[in-house]
Amino acid sequence: MAKINKQQKDRGRFGKCQICLGYIPIEYYFGIGDEISCYECGTVYFIESKDPVQLKMSEDRYIEDDDSSEMIFEDN
Ligand SMILES: [Zn+2]
Repeated sequence: MAKINKQQKDRGRFGKCQICLGYIPIEYYFGIGDEISCYECGTVYFIESKDPVQLKMSEDRYIEDDDSSEMIFEDN
């Protein structure tokens, strides 16, 4: 009676935590741009892509409030 659950394969999307290298399950209800945190170490990621799964660490947020610290010069 060995039955393979096909759905498990379809639904099992995982991102990989860059900090603790743990797997982060991406549930079906998560979408692009959603925030998801690693269950192991709590690092927060944004979902950049689901297929394939690509996670981006949310450290970019720090820059949002402080434009002056990141000036872009066009060097012509
Ligand atoms: Zn982690």
